[in-house]
Amino acid sequence: MKICRLIILLLIIAVPAKAQDSLIFRRISDEIMLRSNCYENLRTLCKTIKNRISGSVQAEKAVIWGQKAMAQTGADRVWLQPVDVPHWVRGYENLKLRYGNGKFKTVKMLSLGNSVGTDGQVWEAEIVMVHSFDELKQLPDEQIKGKIVFFNYRFRQDFVNTFQGYGDAVKYRSNGPSIAARRGARAVIIRSISTGVDDVPHTGALHYIDTIKAIPAVAVGNYTADTLENALSKMKAYAQLETHCKMMENVRSYNVIGEIKGTEHPERIIVIGGHLDSWDVGEGANDDGSGCVQSMEVLRTFTALGIKPKCTIRAVLFMNEENGLKGGIAYADSAKKANEHHILAIETDAGGFTPRGIGLEMSDERKEQIRYFRKLFFPYGVYDFEHEEGGSDISPLKKQGVPMAGLLPDSQRYFEIHHTNNDVFENVNHRELKLGAVALTQLVYLVSYYGLK
Ligand SMILES: [Zn+2]
Repeated sequence: MKICRLIILLLIIAVPAKAQDSLIFRRISDEIMLRSNCYENLRTLCKTIKNRISGSVQAEKAVIWGQKAMAQTGADRVWLQPVDVPHWVRGYENLKLRYGNGKFKTVKMLSLGNSVGTDGQVWEAEIVMVHSFDELKQLPDEQIKGKIVFFNYRFRQDFVNTFQGYGDAVKYRSNGPSIAARRGARAVIIRSISTGVDDVPHTGALHYIDTIKAIPAVAVGNYTADTLENALSKMKAYAQLETHCKMMENVRSYNVIGEIKGTEHPERIIVIGGHLDSWDVGEGANDDGSGCVQSMEVLRTFTALGIKPKCTIRAVLFMNEENGLKGGIAYADSAKKANEHHILAIETDAGGFTPRGIGLEMSDERKEQIRYFRKLFFPYGVYDFEHEEGGSDISPLKKQGVPMAGLLPDSQRYFEIHHTNNDVFENVNHRELKLGAVALTQLVYLVSYYGLK
């Protein structure tokens, strides 16, 4: 046995999980399942404010809503943290496809976030299909120049954890446009990063690589991608693309922060958060209205049960996760400047579905400290503590060495609705949403009580 393992073991024996913990776990669960208003909070956010891309009027309204909702948790202090965010606007968009000598027909599509438009013109060009970057590399320049590259990469359905499939496919959305532009392509169409058996297009951020010409990029749903693929195996295909999207000036926005001061170690901070901005389609219900209301629910539950945390607990509704991460960066910068000591950062941004586990991105010693309590979570259906997961909003804190954790809900339905018009309130189940808040509050309780060395 290694010495460090022995030390952990001794530490664990010295601090046994008390029967009291399992009682507190039960009280947390009862409080949330019976008295939480987080589902109603989510309804208000989704139905009155709707989607809220960074820089938009709705995002501004969401900040005001968030500040009010945060105050209602009973937090000791609520404040807004300024952050300048990009403001991307979609505008009118239309894509028509023609197969062989047929007629142009409009198909469902969404421009990718941050994309440039077609200068208000209708661009007509032949489509060239590739299934991978390697295939694109092998094509001679003359087969790409002036054409529209169709990245026909399928979301791999063989990954049981769909986040793995997303991680595998997302490079075609984020880097595909610049890689195709480098070879002279005029625009890009991608098969949506989607597990869905449908024709729903999924948006999401693209990142233009510096010094590479920015070209328009759009996503089509799986059915349209199948039809296009089938046609291109037999004949030529053409697109008419008109998009008016553009990046505007930066806009002043805010992270919304609420805090309950610790009684013994107020300088030790546990932060939990999700993101308040969403894409400009649907209602940002699973991504990530759910995470926002769950994070606030952690504070409300501590207040409602009269649990005084030993460490300070902070809930943050981060701004601009989707197309810039400016909120997460601003929070980490401010923490560094103020010399704050974060002992754990937790993110909930994987949908409001049934919680299955808690991802841990930290040293093995710290992982063991949390895993020691895993049996306490079993009655609540939370059993998976094996994945190395945090979250994007808290990732800038990771660079400062802060241990990270992330709520891991069941992932099977997330990538059917992620970044689509179907990410609406009706697709969040109230029990599943609350169970996520239960697991998060239980985790925060444990770390606030026992610390994380
Ligand atoms: Zn998200």
